[in-house]
Amino acid sequence: MSKNTRMTKQRKAILEVLKDTDVHPTADWIYEKVKEEIPNISLGTVYRNLNVLSEMGEIMILDYGSTYSRFDGVPNNHYHFQCTECEGVFDLDIPHKDSLNDKIENNTEFEVKDHRLEFYGICPNCQEQDSN
Ligand code: ZN
Ligand code: MN
Repeated sequence: MSKNTRMTKQRKAILEVLKDTDVHPTADWIYEKVKEEIPNISLGTVYRNLNVLSEMGEIMILDYGSTYSRFDGVPNNHYHFQCTECEGVFDLDIPHKDSLNDKIENNTEFEVKDHRLEFYGICPNCQEQDSN
């Protein structure tokens, strides 16, 4: 591919921040962290590199429509739970259901590449606060 997909110093720093956390952060959050290492980096550069990293298959962009995009350092498809109170995004430790893809392919004329399935509700921490 083009020079665009080189692992530059900035890109590497962004990837490391993302691999290092499981909070599924926003671009702003990542920007604040990367700034500790590269003080003169701009938010625009962070955004641009996040998009390139996603195109490279190194990270995943989680798009929840109404809110800001969140970013995931684990690029393979897995399921998430989003809390509607604190907006936390959590990994769900259940296997990705490849059989769902087959089911659609067998019952329709679509060629399925993959699927996205999102769960939402109240996380354990927010449940606890509600009952206090
Ligand atoms: Zn919550
Ligand atoms: Mn995840």
